[in-house]
Amino acid sequence: MFFKDKHCPTCPGSGTQVFRPLNTEERKAVKPEHRQLTDLWRCTAVDCRWYQRWSKQSDGGQLPEDLKNPGAAPE
Ligand SMILES: [Zn+2]
Repeated sequence: MFFKDKHCPTCPGSGTQVFRPLNTEERKAVKPEHRQLTDLWRCTAVDCRWYQRWSKQSDGGQLPEDLKNPGAAPE
């Protein structure tokens, strides 16, 4: 399964968010100590930039501002 539900530490509320694996562009933007990791996932909520290892929330961080999930911006 490609998308999974997980709690996101930077999203409001106590529910879960949908996570997906980082794409190539996002993978280049993670912190240097995370670049060699293969199990990095990101939250897909609007305006969220959180990424983390699937099994370890403490191994995570924020993606750059330009990689945050787009909101429902007017065309
Ligand atoms: Zn989130």
